[in-house]
Amino acid sequence: MPEPADRVAALQSYHDREVAPCVRCALHRTRTQVVVGSGALDAELMFVGEAPGYHEDVQGVPFVGQSGQLLTTLLEGIGLTRDRVFVANVLKCRPPGNRDPAPAEIQSCEPHLFRQVSLIRPRMVCTLGNFATKLLSGRPDGISRVHGHELPIEVGGHRLLLYPLFHPAAALYTRAMLSTLEADFARIPELLGDAAPVSAAAGPAVPTAVAVPSAAPPPPPPAVPPPADEQLGLF
Ligand code: URA
Repeated sequence: MPEPADRVAALQSYHDREVAPCVRCALHRTRTQVVVGSGALDAELMFVGEAPGYHEDVQGVPFVGQSGQLLTTLLEGIGLTRDRVFVANVLKCRPPGNRDPAPAEIQSCEPHLFRQVSLIRPRMVCTLGNFATKLLSGRPDGISRVHGHELPIEVGGHRLLLYPLFHPAAALYTRAMLSTLEADFARIPELLGDAAPVSAAAGPAVPTAVAVPSAAPPPPPPAVPPPADEQLGLF
């Protein structure tokens, strides 16, 4: 396994050569720019959201709008800053009108996320919302059911802890959701401390995510029932 400095250089090069000029799906025609990701290229903790919105598309940085401000506040609440983590999305380009990512777009874009994870080699990845959670867990369970329940997974031969969280946008709508998100966030330092050290196993050429079987019991029903109107598919 390459040294951390080599992985940072490889990731920078991958971002410049493969992600920034990407034309793998039709979203390249409507985007202003690709939103590759931001933060530490050797971060121990990574966050994965859904897709860039209007502000992210304009600025080229993930989570800079209202949900991004909440993400920054939640991070500060556990003693972290944005520059100490890496933040990315399932889709690197904005879907027009902020519609949900289409399955074909996710399929086209997922090699970028898997490559990012396998080069950054974080100890833990927090998925924000349904799309990132389903993609990285490889399971159909929705975020209302699995939020706050850590799951060991493997991406490109690298073992890490997946920790699904509600999308911050969901917490902009309901106070109860914000409390749940804060409570789930509060466990991050403890989970990060417990997360296994990075493995030395070499990964396959094309990284994929697989859930690693664990003895953990299935997650209980959600602490907070989803609201009746399921806005933006966030629940
Ligand atoms: N901004 C992002 O970058 N991603 C999201 O999922 C939402 C807002």
